This record gives sequence, structure tokens and C-alpha cells, in this order.
Amino acid sequence: MSVTQSSIHPPIQSSPFIAANDRINTMAHTASTPSEQAAQWPLETLRHTAAHVMAHAVLRLFPGAKLDIGPAIAEGFYYDFDLPQPISEDDLPRIEAEMRRIIKEDLPLSRVELPHDEAVRRLEQAGQAYKVARLNGEIADATVSVYEQGDFFDLCRGPHLPSTGAVRAFKLLSIAGAYWRGDERNPMLTRIYGTAFPTQQELEEHLRLLEEAKRRDHRKLGKDLDLFSLHDEGPGFPLFHPKGMVVWNELMAFWNQLHDQHGYVQLRTPILLRKACWEQSGHWEHYRDKMYATSIDEEEYAVKPMNCVGAMLYYRSRLHSYRELPMRIAEVGVVHRHEKSGELHGLLRVRQFTQDDAHIFMTPEQIRDEVLGVMSLVDTAYSTFGLPYHLELSTRPPKSIGSNEAWAAATAGLRAALDAKGLPYKVNEGEGAFYGPKIDFHVRDALGRTWQCATIQLDFAMPEKFDLTYVGADNQRHRPVMIHRVVYGAIERFIAVLIEHFAGAFPLWLAPEQVRVAPIAEAQAPYAAEVHRALAQAGVRAALDARSEKIGHKIREATLEKVPYVAVVGPRELAARAVAVRKRGEGDLGSCPLADFVERVRREIALKAR
Ligand SMILES: [Zn+2]
Ligand SMILES: [Zn+2]
Repeated sequence: MSVTQSSIHPPIQSSPFIAANDRINTMAHTASTPSEQAAQWPLETLRHTAAHVMAHAVLRLFPGAKLDIGPAIAEGFYYDFDLPQPISEDDLPRIEAEMRRIIKEDLPLSRVELPHDEAVRRLEQAGQAYKVARLNGEIADATVSVYEQGDFFDLCRGPHLPSTGAVRAFKLLSIAGAYWRGDERNPMLTRIYGTAFPTQQELEEHLRLLEEAKRRDHRKLGKDLDLFSLHDEGPGFPLFHPKGMVVWNELMAFWNQLHDQHGYVQLRTPILLRKACWEQSGHWEHYRDKMYATSIDEEEYAVKPMNCVGAMLYYRSRLHSYRELPMRIAEVGVVHRHEKSGELHGLLRVRQFTQDDAHIFMTPEQIRDEVLGVMSLVDTAYSTFGLPYHLELSTRPPKSIGSNEAWAAATAGLRAALDAKGLPYKVNEGEGAFYGPKIDFHVRDALGRTWQCATIQLDFAMPEKFDLTYVGADNQRHRPVMIHRVVYGAIERFIAVLIEHFAGAFPLWLAPEQVRVAPIAEAQAPYAAEVHRALAQAGVRAALDARSEKIGHKIREATLEKVPYVAVVGPRELAARAVAVRKRGEGDLGSCPLADFVERVRREIALKAR
């Protein structure tokens, strides 16, 4: 059922505050210099140790600060504090300076095992109420470990670097509010984010990528390029502007073409359905927190959070023969899910989005080929955008429905498809949905970040719940197997990924404006209008800049707006019925006969050239 929850929201790095094992204490310490030491340990260990150093520094600077947790995360580390006074990012250099002192002191981190009650006593004495609460809550072990560095100690399972001196290249990055245990009824703590690397060079490269990510932020570029906007009047409900709609429509035209080629039909199912329907599907029981509801004629209705139910109603609307299977039924459907306001983020995390969904109904024997078909469709789509990807297979979780045979058959079907494809894939044991295993596609963007977009999920539950059947060759009724799948995931989110991947410089076929025609002087205005018309007639999105601005200014503006081509028209071009071509990223390509230029642009668009 939750085909898309994961595809919409990138998985959040799990951040247990206590790392799982203690290998560091059993490893031989042979490295001689601190940076060699740092390079020897897993990055996680280095970063978590940096978090300890930061906590130590914060305690020195803000006596009375209370500590919660300080895990390593994908990009660095953080620590949550309850501080005696509010701080801002202006305080970060001061904390960094104190951290450098602690690193210079080269304090050994030593592990002390304490009986549970003694650890509680010691932390109570130190006024560390959050640590005490965690000890009295989720940490029930008879003995717990405390790590000491100089006068600082912290409840922690380790591992850490042997001494603070081994932390070399680090930087504190930002401050955010974070509710204790992520619950908004709890006090708001101050979270300080930082990162650390074995070498200064790696740190600098990472900081450069962070800067680049800021420059490419889709919220900023979406505004600069006039693609979409976000309004207080509807938090989480993005508004697409005309230029954004051009990108949207091009994506969908490509999508429609691909799905026609792959034998899909399309539905448009209702946004609102009776509550009873959502009870039957199980959404009301399992997903209600995320659903919007209303009443019509004093009866309860709910807004769809997924498109599945409509597809079930369609399938069930008449009897099916095995000869009709597989049935590939797509729906580009608008869904709504309630997200907490603090978690909304541009187009990446929204409350209304459009899934490029499809449900495939088939016999169990058809699983492998159908999965291969979806994989080939996804591959065509992503390679068109130049997005490399990797695959992950998630298998049966501990809590699940369906028989062992059904799970075995479904998982074997997915594996057979993956093996037939010959691509490497990662297996996430026990991380499938409770109703079936799945394959996820993780694309890698130009900055090396990964985004989960497409997903293929097998489902046993829904056909059961809606009593879907087909008549087999034996004239008996059988239960079809079902796939939920998306290719882009959510159109809104995919556009955000594309904006950041291309830094707003969309490939020609997606660009809201493909060619800007710019006459140098008034005398070429009529010919420039003719150039504009010729392009428009060839189906090219062209605009004419007939203002009496200097040509350099016109070109600069077109460059800022990331228009792929500028066709400059001066006296020589007029005389030769040509245009002087400037290409984004390549500069001046020289003069080109008008007819050839139109043909060149038309061909590049048709080829979806990048
Ligand atoms: Zn620790
Ligand atoms: Zn579905």
C-alpha cells in the first residue's frame, strides 16, 4: 500500500546515539601520526568522536548545558543540547576554537563500565537529566559504558578514536531546533550540526559540495527561474508557474510516450471516496494519521493518500480472463498526505503531490517478465536524464502477511528479474513492506547525492482485501498478483531533483524557453521576428528580445535565465539570412544559415539531447 511513502521521502539516516559495537577497543593501534590514526578508523567513528569533542567544548563554554545524543550521520554528526542560554550560528567559531584546544590537549578517551544504577547516580550528579531519562527508559542493560576524556564524560557505547588528538579536519555547520525524542510535546533542544574528515583536503571538498548544493537548491532556483512558488496560504501545496508547467508537461509527454510503448492504459480515479472504502483497503486503520477527511451529506469521506483503491474498483468492475493479463493500469494521480509543518521542504516534502503510479495485475508466473518490463521502462527514463542509479531489493519483514509460498515466489520473481538484468543490487533483508517485497531505484545526481525515485512493489494483500479474481485456463477463479510501481515517484519531487541535478540548466527538450532571438539593432527587428516565427513554426519554444538594449546585455540576461540557445541577428546575419548561434555552456558557435539552425534545434529536441 505504501508504494510511495519511501519514494516521496528520502530515508532519514537512522541515528542511534550509541554505536553498535566496540571493535575499536580490540583493534591494534599501530598508526603513528594523528592523521594516519584518523584515516584508519571508520568515518562514523571519527565523526562520532568529533561529536564528543564538540559536547566537551560546549560544556566548557556553557556550564550547565545538558546533553542528549550525538550520533554520526550520513554527512557528519550532530549533538543535541539543552543550553542555559540561546545561541546562534555566530557562536559556532567560538565552539570550534574550544574544540581545537581539546584536540590539541590530545585527551585519551577511556571506557569505564558501570553498573546501571551507578551510571544513573553519576549522571544525576552531573545534572544530565536527558541521559538519566534515557537510562531509565530504553537502556535496560545491567552494565553500561561511560567514556571519559579529561574532565568530560559521556554515556556511550562507543566506539571512538583513542584520543581527541586524532580528530583532524572538522567544521561546525549549522544550528537547528530539535524536539527531544522527535516529539513536539517535548522540550525543544538545540542541535548543532558539524562534519569531520580524515584530511583537510576531504573536508574542503565536502564544503565545496555543500556550497554547490546551496547554489543548486531547487527552492532558490525555482524562484530565480520562475518555475514554482510556495505560499503561506497553503503550506506543502506547491504552485507551479507557466515555466514550471512547461517542464511538467514535457516530462508527462515523455512519460505518456514511454507508457504507450510499454502497453499501459490510464485511469483517472476520484480524489474523494467514502470512508468505508478506506476501511476495506486498510488505509483507515494503518494510514489515517496522514489522511485528510471531510463529510458530504453527513457521511464521512477521505482524500486519497494513494491511488491503489481506484485501481481496485476499476479491476473489480467486471470479470477478467487470464487472457487479459497482465493488465498495466497507470494513473498520474494527485494524492494528499498530512506531513508535519516542520518537515515540509520545498518540492521534496509536500502535502499534495502527483504520483506517476501504475498497478499491474498478473498471474504469479508473469512476475519476472513484468518486473523486467518496468525495469526497462525506468532505465529508458533515467538514462534520458543522464541519471545513473543503483538497485535495492527489500525482502520479507518480521511482521508480514501472506503465506511462505507466496513470499518465496514473489521474492524469487524479483530476484530472477534482477539477475536477468545483470545489474548489481543491494539486498535489504527484512525491509520489504508488510504486504510484499520491493525493488527501489536510487538515482545519483551531479553532486553524487542519491535520491530514491522509482519503486516496484509486489502486493498480496490488496487483491485479497478487494477479492480480486480472474478466470484461469482451468475455468476456475484465481487471485491475481499485483504490482504497485512509480517511475518518477512524485512529479513535484522529480522536478526538484532535476533542477538540482542540472543546476537549473535543463536540457533543450525540457527548457521552458529553448531559443532567445536577439536582434542587435532596430534595423534587424523585422528579420528577427521572421527568425522567431520560423522557430515557433518548427515547434521550438522561442522568445524574441526586441528591446532596444545592448546585445551584450540581452545575452547576459538569456545566460542568467539559462536559455540553451541565443540566436543573435545583426546586419551580416540579415544579409545572409543566417543567425549567429550562442550555445549555453559553449559560447559563440558562429554563423549558421537560418534553415540549418531551425533543423539543428528541432533535431536536438527530438533526440532529447543533453
Ligand atoms: Zn560516544
Ligand atoms: Zn498502489
